[in-house]
Amino acid sequence: MTKLIYMDDSYAQECDAKVEGVVEYNDEGDDSHLVGIILDSTVFYPRGGGQPCDTGKLIDLKTNEEFNVVQVKKENGKVVHYVDKIGLKIGDTVHCKIDWERRYTFMRYHTASHVIAGMFNSDTGAQITGNQIGLDKTRFDFSLENFDKSLLEKEVEKANSYFGTDVPVSIFYMPRDEALNIPGMVKLANALPPNIETLRIVKIGTDDNIIDIQADGGTHVNNLKEVPKVEIIKLENKGKNNKRVYFRFVEQN
Ligand SMILES: [Zn+2]
Repeated sequence: MTKLIYMDDSYAQECDAKVEGVVEYNDEGDDSHLVGIILDSTVFYPRGGGQPCDTGKLIDLKTNEEFNVVQVKKENGKVVHYVDKIGLKIGDTVHCKIDWERRYTFMRYHTASHVIAGMFNSDTGAQITGNQIGLDKTRFDFSLENFDKSLLEKEVEKANSYFGTDVPVSIFYMPRDEALNIPGMVKLANALPPNIETLRIVKIGTDDNIIDIQADGGTHVNNLKEVPKVEIIKLENKGKNNKRVYFRFVEQN
């Protein structure tokens, strides 16, 4: 089992690791030939939960040769790092380095989307049905019949009152049955695989004021101080009960 460093330390940007598997892979739809590398530990986040994968480099510690990591996916329970050329072999040791600026943007957007979703859920009961975190904007979908722009703006204003202020974000683990008894824990409809017994929980806020709490596998910042204020780009109707909202940071960086 690969040690997933990002699960407990989302600020880890580098680590050393040993190559445990090499798989060749032909990316469908284009001619590029990628090589999949399985490591004994990693700082690379694989695509999942609406958060894109990390990119970065694997550096062969013996030859100093650099391999660009262009894609990271979880396949059959294993994190596979797709690099752009052959050369790494089982038993090699590598230095892993993620593209930190990209990851940190995802962390801030991911945490921001939990805060906004938390506002929506507690004020309107809306279920979040999907999300896509990006580098210059993020969207999420929610199901709610009666909804207008002024209500949306009110929720975003509330979220903005927390961004840039000292509010802790904590990560811990909980037995599934216990976790599912907490109201609002599963906002993303059908997001949980049925066979996981221990859930990783992301809590934003203090016990006196929980802004959002949910089962989640993504990477987050430690404090809302690090999250800039947001603005709505647009609100779309995707059907009777389905709405899609796009937001971005007012100040980039
Ligand atoms: Zn999330």
